[in-house]
Amino acid sequence: MTHDWAALDRDLRGFLPPKAVVSKRQELLVYDCDGLTMDRHCPPLAVLPETTSQVAKVISCCNRHQVPFVARGSGTGLSGGALVETEALLVITSRMRSILAVDLPNSTITVQPGVINSWITRAVSGEGFYYAPDPSSQVVCSIGGNVAENSGGVHCLKYGVTSNHVLGLEVVLPDGTISSFGGGLAEMAELDLRGVFIGSEGTLGIATSVTLRLLRSPEHVTVLLADFASMESAGEAVRKVTAAGVIPSGMEIMDNFMINAVNDLLGVEEYPRDSAAVLLIELDGQLAEVSAATDHAFDLCNQAGARSIRRAEKPEDRERLWKGRKSAFAAVGQISPTYYVQDGVVPRSSLSTVLSKIERLSNEYELPVANVFHAGDGNLHPLILYKSSSKDVEEKVKSLGADILRECLEVGGSITGEHGVGADKRCYLEWMFSPEDLETMNLVRLAFDPHGMANPGKIFPTPRSCGESGRRKMKMIVGEGENIREVDVF
Ligand SMILES: Cc1cc2nc3c(=O)[nH]c(=O)nc-3n(C[C@H](O)[C@H](O)[C@H](O)COP(=O)(O)OP(=O)(O)OC[C@H]3O[C@@H](n4cnc5c(N)ncnc54)[C@H](O)[C@@H]3O)c2cc1C
Repeated sequence: MTHDWAALDRDLRGFLPPKAVVSKRQELLVYDCDGLTMDRHCPPLAVLPETTSQVAKVISCCNRHQVPFVARGSGTGLSGGALVETEALLVITSRMRSILAVDLPNSTITVQPGVINSWITRAVSGEGFYYAPDPSSQVVCSIGGNVAENSGGVHCLKYGVTSNHVLGLEVVLPDGTISSFGGGLAEMAELDLRGVFIGSEGTLGIATSVTLRLLRSPEHVTVLLADFASMESAGEAVRKVTAAGVIPSGMEIMDNFMINAVNDLLGVEEYPRDSAAVLLIELDGQLAEVSAATDHAFDLCNQAGARSIRRAEKPEDRERLWKGRKSAFAAVGQISPTYYVQDGVVPRSSLSTVLSKIERLSNEYELPVANVFHAGDGNLHPLILYKSSSKDVEEKVKSLGADILRECLEVGGSITGEHGVGADKRCYLEWMFSPEDLETMNLVRLAFDPHGMANPGKIFPTPRSCGESGRRKMKMIVGEGENIREVDVF
């Protein structure tokens, strides 16, 4: 379907400030990809609204012009979720950056969706509070993006992912109406549409205000850094610690490639260069509890064969141990500006098996793979490094990524942990779900968005994006009375 972009542009400028509409190609090119830089499409038109009512007017305008829309926060997503693949209006929330309300007696904060994750903790840390979900991209990614991807992070092992911390949402639905899901209370009487919306990757509408749960900053924090001669022993340490009932706030592993990459980037010798794997364990809570748990974890790492273990209590010492982990993606970027981040999940007990298989695949494909991952959650992030951006090389990289996900599924894992399905992984969804499962999910989507206005083509496999491969087409009943008919959707 061809759209009248000039007419839409004119209508949008009727109620948005001039700088809120971007129509020049050279300015739109900034938005031609998200963190998945391999896939690029320049949007035809973009808007930067500042309020919920502006978003609602934009979406109503889209409906009048029958132009679909794609929401975008900071564009750090790694699965092409904010990519405008088909002709659609890009709705960017980066001017929606106000903190709307702070309610410390009830430990909540309400923010616009463009607010950056780390700003929340910064806003309340002076009062002894913090916001727990901490993606490694937390200094740039938006809360709206976190909600849409149900993002995780280092501290999600103990405290849970974004969905455990979102109490309420204000949402502009795909027809332009404004609705609220959940609220400021921990329990609500309604159907949990808040839960349905979180992780829906922009396919059910645009979140325009988010009420989050705040936690009290822990009294005491300790970090252990254990180094191992093999990935198996590092994996065994993770297994032993969790099996003993110790719940660290975070447990992260870096492999030898990554250890050397971050040492080089930071110009330090923080992590032993000959180590096969380093394991970072953070424990938090009340002083006595943390001291006992740290001693216990220390012993268990020793039993698993740790070559050395460092213990950091002071904030500056803890920060030093974490700095390399937090710089991991940048360190790989220094070696190879082009890399592809995979995101799969495996049961913790299968970590070392799958990592050995990744190593074998990396040799077979002759593509280096660096590993840094949320070990406690079994959430792997193999980074596949490649140099040329020719189509052949990119296809080879994607094929290696797909083989890694097959290995994850083989041991009962998942094709995504926290980066979402987006455009990148929709064709793998069928490896995990039956046609009936997918159809049920699509019916939920259709209940929100019967005309396929919100982030079209994302998440679900379509014949156009994944080839026919015997896939059933999604059907929908539309119309009324004698005009009732069945149509193919998406
Ligand atoms: C270096 C690096 C490290 C990362 N580390 C982590 C990590 O540890 N954990 C993790 O989970 N992720 C991580 N990510 C991935 C990414 O940062 C997260 O997915 C993040 O939540 C995306 O936020 P964003 O604002 O950039 O969203 P975008 O990329 O702009 O959008 C992501 C998706 O959200 C939708 N969306 C955006 N805003 C809204 C809204 N207001 N309403 C509805 N839908 C919306 C978009 O349509 C898109 O589908 C990392 C990325 C990078 C580059």
